Amino acid sequence: MPLPLIHHPRYTIELPDGHPFPMAKFQALRDRLETELGDTTIDWLQPEIAPRGALARVHTPAYLDAFLSGQTSKAAQRRSGFQWSEALVERVRLETGGTLLTVEAALSDGLALNTAGGTHHAHAGFASGYCLINDIAVAAAHARAMGWVQRVLIIDLDVHQGDGTAAIFADTPEVVTFSMHAGSNFPARKTPGDHDIELARGTGDDAYLATLRDALATLIDAVRPDLVVYDAGVDVHQADRLGHLELTDAGLEARDRHVLQVCRERAAPVAAVIGGGYDRDITALADRHAILHRTAASL
Ligand SMILES: [Zn+2]
Repeated sequence: MPLPLIHHPRYTIELPDGHPFPMAKFQALRDRLETELGDTTIDWLQPEIAPRGALARVHTPAYLDAFLSGQTSKAAQRRSGFQWSEALVERVRLETGGTLLTVEAALSDGLALNTAGGTHHAHAGFASGYCLINDIAVAAAHARAMGWVQRVLIIDLDVHQGDGTAAIFADTPEVVTFSMHAGSNFPARKTPGDHDIELARGTGDDAYLATLRDALATLIDAVRPDLVVYDAGVDVHQADRLGHLELTDAGLEARDRHVLQVCRERAAPVAAVIGGGYDRDITALADRHAILHRTAASL
């Protein structure tokens, strides 16, 4: 059965020259996967923009009013990492629509993957760290509101702590947040989630994978989720210019394989998003993100 992969050409928009966010990676990832996996392996699905009603399940009306209509203050734009534009709003809503579609496809096929998403620093009422709308939270809340699932487990292995997601679901015991991240990375002040593991700078493959193996299966057995949303950030990689954890390509592949296999053994559907990854070499970065999709296709 072909693997559902979700992509929209307007995941990538123009940014001012020299902007630090690697916006071209989404298109580069799609091109890479098309070349590498071919059309027989992949079922490409194109999302629509996430409706305001879906966003409003986790974001405040005041924040949505400001963000959707371009009334965001200069200070708030600085904190988000992006200057406001119509194209940015469309891009963010398409990315969130993509994660909504990824969840739907995962619940139907067992596994589906977005080629964007993982904007876990977005809180209910403010944007932060390149994250404007929390696609993970919107998708988890949507699946519950539609009555598709009861319990959701969010496995967040981006190098940065999933503070926005943790805050949004602080009073929702049916959505369990697990974040394994570098303690020394952004955000300086973490928002405690249900299960947080802080790793030391320079942890590396062996210790990272041992810690993950110790934690994950036990957690899934305890939560018994109807849906897993997996943030597979590659900013844990040794070449990433922001992350502090020093994983290799092989370490990333072993990480993703472990998560996907443990979930599959327990018949937990997985909707995966790519998360963070910061490298000025877009080709190298797209190759790194493609490890997730390649591993999923090989299961
Ligand atoms: Zn990150």
